[in-house]
Amino acid sequence: MIYDTHMHCDYSCDSEMKLEDALAAATEQGIGLTVTEHWDYDYPTNPDAFTFDIDEYFARFMPLKSDKALIGIEIGMQTHTAEADKKIAQSHAFDYVLASIHCIGRRDLYEPTCYEGRTRQQIVEEFLHESITCLEQERDFDAFAHIDYICRYWPYTGAERELRLSDAPELFDRLFTLLIEKNKPIEINTRRLDDAAAVAGLLPLYKRYHELGGRFCTLGSDAHYKEHVGRRLQEAMELAKECGLTPVYFKARKMYIMEGL
Ligand SMILES: [Zn+2]
Ligand SMILES: [Zn+2]
Repeated sequence: MIYDTHMHCDYSCDSEMKLEDALAAATEQGIGLTVTEHWDYDYPTNPDAFTFDIDEYFARFMPLKSDKALIGIEIGMQTHTAEADKKIAQSHAFDYVLASIHCIGRRDLYEPTCYEGRTRQQIVEEFLHESITCLEQERDFDAFAHIDYICRYWPYTGAERELRLSDAPELFDRLFTLLIEKNKPIEINTRRLDDAAAVAGLLPLYKRYHELGGRFCTLGSDAHYKEHVGRRLQEAMELAKECGLTPVYFKARKMYIMEGL
């Protein structure tokens, strides 16, 4: 079965999707899902914006949980939150812990001010350095989310919009090698796969991950609305195939290959 392993329901402050609606959308498409509510400690613009009552999340999810409906969390890593992030990952019986970078230097990548007074090169290096530092820390997670998250929000357009290996080849290699050494799949986030330039930009990154020894990827729509559950998974699977990556999902923190693709 194909799994959409990244989506947000109403415990994430930026989503109002009901769990039941997400499940109905997945069932209709014949896919499984993993809900990954946001957890970002010490969010720069609002420290409590992306935290929630995890006990309540479990209490509401458990009656709906099945092999096709898995419970996860997306933890936004910052270099000063490693210990707290690890505790949260281990605090409940999650099926899946997805690790993300939403902030660099205590600045929110979503905010235009994040990029002010810095060159594109400085930003790319800062993003990669922070990602590498986070991954070198003692943490507990299963996969690394949306490497192109920054491309959604930074002010660059045209050829400057996409991350390029040539921007910082050694840093990209270090990042990918860390993931591979820790046996962590890289996520193919489908949010931007409707954009041919984004696909063309992502291809060399995922290919490099594979070249360095990476074998597995997860597929995630990052849906915040029921209409987006399962969105562009087909495109993601094609991209995975082109890069030699095998799509997987996690149940009870164990990796499973998606069957019947
Ligand atoms: Zn995210
Ligand atoms: Zn997300």
